[in-house]
Amino acid sequence: MLSIPHTLTGAFIASKIPHPAVYIPATLAFHYLQDWIPHWDVGTGLSTGRRKRSTAIMLEIAELIISIGLIWYFFQLGADDIRYHIWAGALTGIAPDLLEAPRNFLKWEPRLLKPVNNFHGFFHHSTLNMPLGLLPQVILIIAIWFLR
Ligand SMILES: [Zn+2]
Repeated sequence: MLSIPHTLTGAFIASKIPHPAVYIPATLAFHYLQDWIPHWDVGTGLSTGRRKRSTAIMLEIAELIISIGLIWYFFQLGADDIRYHIWAGALTGIAPDLLEAPRNFLKWEPRLLKPVNNFHGFFHHSTLNMPLGLLPQVILIIAIWFLR
């Protein structure tokens, strides 16, 4: 999935259950479950050459900026202090993708990360149908907005 729903999911879980022993494993489990749903994201088409790496990197940077804005708007706005657990949850939400980023964007994969990335890849189902691949992500973001 896109980084936006992944980071919002992690922030949401951390907002409801702010103990890292709960929100970290729960957020990671949700990441793999969400990736299992056929989806469209900025990496879709990278492995087949349908998308250029430079385009994917620029889209990902834009997406991370949007993620930060939405997390702030959904969970940080109006709070007196920085809600560190929210941001830690959000970071956990994209951890599997961050670990895979060197392989996807730089074509370099440290040997240590290979089993983690293969595990991630096992769950990953993407679709080239952009509207269909974005629909579950939009529904998820709206659901988080109402449930937060
Ligand atoms: Zn992923």
